[in-house]
Amino acid sequence: MSTSTSAKFINSVYQTVLTRNPGETEFHQAVHEVFESLAPVIDRHPEYSESAVLQRICEPERQIIFRVPWIDDHNRVHINRGFRVQFNSALGPYKGGLRFHPSVLLGTVKFLGFEQIFKNALTGLPIGGGKGGSDFDPKGKSDREVMRFCQSFMTELHRHIGQYVDVPAGDIGVGGREIGYLFGQYKRLTNAYESGVITGKGIGWGGSRARTEATGYGAVIFAQEMLATRDQSFDGRKVLVSGSGNVALYAIQKVQQLGGTVVGASDSQGAVYDPDGIDFDLLRQIKEDERARISEYAERKGGRVQYRTSGSLWSIAKEEQIDVALPCATQNELNAEDARTLVNSGVQAVAEGANMPSTPDAVHTFQKANVLFGPGKAANAGGVATSALEMQQNASRDSWTFEYTEQRLTDIMKRLHRSVQQTADEYGHPGDYVMGANIHGFSLVADAMIAQGVI
Ligand code: GLU
Repeated sequence: MSTSTSAKFINSVYQTVLTRNPGETEFHQAVHEVFESLAPVIDRHPEYSESAVLQRICEPERQIIFRVPWIDDHNRVHINRGFRVQFNSALGPYKGGLRFHPSVLLGTVKFLGFEQIFKNALTGLPIGGGKGGSDFDPKGKSDREVMRFCQSFMTELHRHIGQYVDVPAGDIGVGGREIGYLFGQYKRLTNAYESGVITGKGIGWGGSRARTEATGYGAVIFAQEMLATRDQSFDGRKVLVSGSGNVALYAIQKVQQLGGTVVGASDSQGAVYDPDGIDFDLLRQIKEDERARISEYAERKGGRVQYRTSGSLWSIAKEEQIDVALPCATQNELNAEDARTLVNSGVQAVAEGANMPSTPDAVHTFQKANVLFGPGKAANAGGVATSALEMQQNASRDSWTFEYTEQRLTDIMKRLHRSVQQTADEYGHPGDYVMGANIHGFSLVADAMIAQGVI
């Protein structure tokens, strides 16, 4: 096929995706973003179109939607909706997190599951792609309410998962507390201590050291590798990190270990600008231990810290020259205007710690300005990679040290960066990490799908 015939073919598959999945705009966005890179691959590999890999990869192998009834502390009955989308098992058991957030719809889970297929492939580890979640909001709920919800959620989910079938983990709204309740209920229902059925467990009962830190650390290592291609580093750099969940927190810690200064962080209510550099221990205590708002940080630290509710975190780049931006909050949190603000500020690199945090226009703005841009499916793969290391430890009934696990994570991120970079070079787009990640991830999955026949 010529490149223009390939582009036409890809567009016709995309039209089918739109018709078949009406209203699922985030899913459409995720598919479009991958498809934009694929014409040269389809061109080179006629077997991909002959065996309808593109059409098959957009259709989840299985989608499970279920009712989750639970009773609150005042004896009131609530109904939420639960999801698990088992997207692709060409490379291994379905693997991906659970998101508990009021905004979660089937389309959200499908966008996340679709991204997960390629991200997991890029880790080089044997994991397929899946995702799940619920429109349940853990914010403002008591521990007991969260426990009852998790138990009800798992009462249905347990029949669809297993260490060789589908291995969930955390995502937004699902951390160590929720994983504990989910695992406990799975164990009770199956009467088996199947450690490898879920990742992100506590260190004392089958969890991996460095898993909590892994997504944030990995994103910073990826950014460091990108910077190194231009003989730059984090040392002495000013950085903005959006979010203050587990990804953002440990990205902040790693930037500081590498000599950078993080001058801003945020949560869903507002942002803090701390020109002296975020105090990691204080922020971690407020967000992780106390589950409080980031406004608390400004109140307690005082000094030159400013708390802002209006305008986005990225507007700090109008006042302070920013070298690196790490969007670690949620999808579409960084738009074209934010991207222009960062470019005008002189930003050198952007690495996505969250899934699809930059809008398509923002991505194009960065790329046009020659900013190093690491898309989420490459830059935030450290989390799921360390989940796969947790599965390895569970399978061998072993528990590794923090240092060893972090070294494995670092090696994986460096290898991932290299393979994405090489693919971009090979396809004539040096430095285009979006192209490199999409093409490399897609090819790994497509080759396995073809080898396994039309299923
Ligand atoms: N939710 C994380 C992600 O987006 C981690 C998934 C996992 O560890 O399975 O990759």
